[in-house]
Order: sequence, then C-alpha cells, then structure tokens
Amino acid sequence: MEKIIALAGNPNSGKTTLFNHLTGGNQRVGNWPGVTVDKKEGKLKQDPNIKIQDLPGIYSLSPYSPEEVISRDFLAVERPDLIVDVVDASNLLRNLYLTSQLMELKLPLIIALNMIDIVEKTGAVINVETLSQKLGCAVVPIAATKGTGIEKLIQVIKEKLYEKPKEPNILSFSSPTETALQQIETIINKATIALEPKRYLATQSLLDDEITLSRLKLGPDALSEISEIRSDLEHKLDDDIDSIITSERYDSLEQLVSEVQAESQVKLSLTDRIDKIVTSRILGLPIFILVMFLVYFVSIQTIGTMATDWVNEVLFEDIVSGGIVSFMSAWNVAPWLIGLVNDGIVAGVGAVLGFLPQMFVLFLCLGLLEDSGYMARVAFVMDRIFRRFGLSGKSFIPLMISTGCSVPAIQASRTMENERDRRLTIITASFMPCSAKLPVIALIASAFFGGSAWITTSFYFIGIGAVIISGAILKKFRQLASDPAPFVMEMPTYHAPRTLTILKYALVKSWAFVKRAGTIILLSALVIWFLSSFNWSLQMVEENGEGSIMASLGRALAWLFYPLGFDKWQAIVATITGFIAKENIVNTLGIVMNLGSGLAEDSPELLQNFGVLLSSIGSYSFLLFNMLCMPCFAAVGAIRTEMASSRWTWLALGWQMSFAYAVSLIYYNLAMWIVNNVFNLWTVIAIATLVLLVILLLRPDRYRRSR
Ligand code: GDP
Ligand code: MG
Repeated sequence: MEKIIALAGNPNSGKTTLFNHLTGGNQRVGNWPGVTVDKKEGKLKQDPNIKIQDLPGIYSLSPYSPEEVISRDFLAVERPDLIVDVVDASNLLRNLYLTSQLMELKLPLIIALNMIDIVEKTGAVINVETLSQKLGCAVVPIAATKGTGIEKLIQVIKEKLYEKPKEPNILSFSSPTETALQQIETIINKATIALEPKRYLATQSLLDDEITLSRLKLGPDALSEISEIRSDLEHKLDDDIDSIITSERYDSLEQLVSEVQAESQVKLSLTDRIDKIVTSRILGLPIFILVMFLVYFVSIQTIGTMATDWVNEVLFEDIVSGGIVSFMSAWNVAPWLIGLVNDGIVAGVGAVLGFLPQMFVLFLCLGLLEDSGYMARVAFVMDRIFRRFGLSGKSFIPLMISTGCSVPAIQASRTMENERDRRLTIITASFMPCSAKLPVIALIASAFFGGSAWITTSFYFIGIGAVIISGAILKKFRQLASDPAPFVMEMPTYHAPRTLTILKYALVKSWAFVKRAGTIILLSALVIWFLSSFNWSLQMVEENGEGSIMASLGRALAWLFYPLGFDKWQAIVATITGFIAKENIVNTLGIVMNLGSGLAEDSPELLQNFGVLLSSIGSYSFLLFNMLCMPCFAAVGAIRTEMASSRWTWLALGWQMSFAYAVSLIYYNLAMWIVNNVFNLWTVIAIATLVLLVILLLRPDRYRRSR
C-alpha cells in the first residue's frame, strides 16, 4: 500500500538536502529561505511505495505567507501518513517552535535532528534520548550534507510507517490557556462536522484563524462563544492572543531545551541574549526611546551642532555673507540686488543648508541602527503596541522610512496587501519628523529649550503617537475598517555595521537634502524674499518687512492661527511656505527675520528675534502644527499617486489638517491654562475638542470582524 511522508521544517533546515538523499533526486539546494516554494514529490529510493513530499520551509503553522498555506494545507488537511520534521540542531529552540505545532497534529512524527555536525563542532551535546522522551517521538541525529545518519533515519521511517501509530506528546500552556482550549474543544466536539485533531483545531480557533474556523462550519452561537473565551483570556492575561500563545509556547520550549542540553550549553547566542532585552515587553519601548534620544543628542545637540554653528557663523556669515556684501558694495551693485543675495539667498538657503552637518550625522546614526539589525527588533516591539490598537506592525516599516523622507515611505506602502491598511499608512506616514522638518525643530529647540534633544525625540514619538491615534480613530469608519494584518518579520542576526554601507546611505540622503536646497528651496527663497521686501505697489519696504505683501498675507490669516498661539505673520507665512517644502519654514524665518537687520552679524539674532515672535508654549504649538499638518507638495503628489483617487487624497489632507489643528489647539490652550492660568473661551473649546477625540478613539468598533 502506498504511504506518504512529508518533510517539514524551517527554511534552511536542510529539507531539500535530505529529500535529495532519500529520493536520489537532484532538487536545488540553497542557503537562503524561500528556495523551495512549491512542494516537490519523490519516491524513496529503496521503496517506491513510499512517496516523499518536500514542503516549503515554514516557521509556524499560522498561514501568513503562501509557503505556510501550502505546507499547512498539506499537513493539516491532506494529512500524510508520517511527518519527518527536519530540525536544525544548531538552532534548536527556534526550530522546535514549529515542532510543537506539528505535535498537535497527532500524526506519526519523526524528528530528523539535522546539522548535528555543526553542533558537534561547537562541542555541544544534545541528549537525544531525553529529547525523544519529552517530545514523544523518535529523534534521529543526521548530517544531511554528509549523509550521516540517513540509513538509520530510513530504517526508523519504515518502522514507524508500518507499526501501530503512536501519537506525539503535547506541550502544555499556562492553566488559563489550557482551560480556554478545553472549553473550545468541547464546543468543537458538539459541532456537526467531526474533524481531527481536536487539540490543533482548538488552538487555531483560539487564535481566530479564519481558515480553520470556516472548515469547522460552526454556528453563530459557537463562534461567539469562542470569541468570548478568547477575549476573556486576553483580558485575564492582559495581552493579545497571538502574543499569549507564542510566548507560552516559547516558555515551555525553553524549559525543554534546557533539559536536553547541558546547562552550560543552553547559553543563548549573543543575538538571542540582546534580543531578550531589547524586545522585552517592559524594556523594549523605553530602550527604543533612549536610543532615539541618543541619536538626536549626538546628531542635533552635540556633534552636529558644533559643525552647524561653524557653518552658520563662520562659513555663511563671515565668509559668504560678509565677502559677498563687501564685494558687491565695492562694485556699486544696486542695494536691492545686495538685499536679494544677502537677505534672500544667503539668509534663506543658508539657514537651511546650515543644518547639513546635523543631517549628515543623523543619517549616519539611522544607517547604523538599520544596518546593525536593531530596527528590525523595533518593528517587532512596535507591532505589539500597534496591534493593541487594531493596527498592523507592518505599517511601522513605512514610518521608519519616513524619518528620512515621507515620499519613499508613502510609496513603500505598496507592499501592504490589505488595501485599507495601505490607505491608512498613506494618510499617516507623513506624521513622522522627516529630515526636512528637523531644521525647524532644531531651531526652536535651541531658541527656547537649550537645544535639548528631548524636543526632537518628543516629535519622533509624537509622530508615532499621531499614527496610532489617527489609525485607531479612522479604523472605526467603515471605509477603513479591517483586522490588523499579521506581521512576521525575520530577525537578522546582529552584525558589526559596515562602514561603507552606512557612509553611502548618509551621503545619498545628505545629497538629496543639498539638491533640494539648491533647487526648490532656492526658488522659494527668491519668491519669499520678493514678497517680504516689497509692498503691493512694488516699492521696497523699509525695516523688518512689516509693510510687505508677505506681512499682509500673513496677517489676513492671523485669526485662523490665533487659537493655536502663533498669530504673528512671520510664523504664519513660514507655515504656509512649508506646504511647498518643509525646509521652507526655516528658509522663510531666516529671510523675514533677517530683513532690515543688515548683515546678520551673529546667528543668535535669529534666535533672539524668535523670543519676540513666539512664547515657548507658542513655539511648541507652532512645531506641533507644522509637524502634523499636510506634508510638502512632493509628498502630496505621492499620496495622490498611491491613492489613485482624488477623493482619497482630499480626505487624507483634510484629516492631516484637522488633526494637526486639533492637537495644537488642545496643547496650546491647556498649556496656557495649566502654566499661565489663562482660562477663556478657547480653553473650553480645547477641552471639548479633546473630549471629542477621546470619544472617537474609544467608541465601539462596529466594523471589526465580530468573531
Ligand atoms: P531547506 O531550505 O530546508 O530545503 O534547506 P537546504 O536543503 O536548501 O539546505 C540549506 C543549507 O544548509 C544548504 O547550504 C545546505 O548545504 C546546508 N545543510 C543542510 N544540511 C546540513 C548539514 O547536515 N550540515 C551542514 N553543515 N550543512 C547542512
Ligand atoms: Mg528547500
């Protein structure tokens, strides 16, 4: 009689190598995941009645990727006569995760403990006897590349195929989880369709696995009972169900591994030990905040600032500005042209370019975080937080990109399968402080807050917070409602950062910054200078640009920004030119505050003038609005392209504008009330807005899948 064996295991565990040995075949072997994407079939060399299936490598039985769907369908639905689980012995804990799920399938199981040669080389010992006893199945150590242990494996396969089948053990979960599983098993037992194995079906149902639940054909009552059991458990253990099951599995596996490997050998690899800390539930987020603070401390507050000060004070003011003015005066150049060059281009573009050293150091730091593998861990930590709000951790990847520029971030949303999650990411990606926004943060941080890197760090996390809050609010509208897409990210091993890679990364990004300064920012500077140096009858205005076109435009909008605490025309026009490009905020402030002051002798002048313009509470509110409101034109273009709909583009801009306005309004008026004891109509409106936001955030989610 024909028998079917399935080869299952993690990617790269050596399944194909073993398959070739068993079948005499010649399948492609590769040292990277995803080589075998389809299942391949062969016959055992020594016994053509035994068919062998090489399955795509998988990390778990949860069907997140096409490979997992193929493998899981074959194992759980078609059910082979025997599973040979190829386990990479040099990576026991991670590989046994899948094993623990295979055990629940209640099929005859053999562990091919592969790569035993690597384990032996490190001098480690795995107690095969104990492992076999704990798992309740045969364990055969092999080295597939060398062919060691294969004979023995074939012998065990034949024995197991023809003897009376024995079921493997089951790993147990914590007692609340076990109770929940028992209850679900009882519900499944009552179901009309009898499917085996109950334990596996119960676990998948607890995990809210759509495919399994639909196979069970449960009635609405049973489904709601199950979802009640699930939410009770989530409530009791204060975590989402995926994390509960995953971490409990790892808990019992860690216990098991420590029993089969001598104590000294369970020593986790360095990567594992670092990960235990940086992805820990309690420390993960604080560590990330600290890391970002260090990044901004180094780039914005210390090293970068020294370079930036030099560029501003020596390069632009003494050399460029001083030089140009004396040169042009010597040649009797018309005063308006001197003004254009000095008050327009040098003051505006120079103010932006002055931040280049800080940008460069920042990009070096971010490159380092990405290249070392730390950012992959952050994505994992953020996933846990995002999930609580019904968002997918997948949306965190575009946010990381957005720290550089939101245009590629918006484009990166293309990789998201779920259309609604994709739209949500496009709407919210630009909340992050991109590199063009950093100059104005740095400027205000040094003008009002002693240059503190905490100000910059705060905007990084305000950006993330804005994404989460917007996401949680918008997801409750029918057009954007969906369940969070599962997110599995492979964690690369840490490695020493490659200097060249990082340098190249920083250079490319800095060059983009310079290029913008030389094109769109320069052009804007000319227009801004013109508008703030001339009045409506095209006469040059004296002093401070007070009578200029720009000033009158800004004043016309003062009523709109008054409740936010920045109604000075300079701040308003800076905000508006910032819609063209965010660098223009600093560009504009540089120009309009430099007017009439003749030569900018020392750069602190710009900072001092600021104090006249805004209070420190007002300046933070100014930042809040500028960080969260609609992004620059380039990003709006990207939103339009990716949304492929002008309606959605307008909705996105509308949300960004209203959200920014609401946040600034709430912040400014509450801060004025708490700090300065100012209570007026706007305080009441701010409180009402806050209440409205909280209601939108907490209102019940009608559209989330009810099961
Ligand atoms: P699959 O992804 O599970 O199909 O794994 P492959 O069969 O493609 O093997 C992945 C890599 O591991 C290849 O580079 C193999 O040469 C290597 N490999 C497989 N088995 C062993 C083994 O027992 N010892 C050693 N040292 N390397 C192995
Ligand atoms: Mg393969």
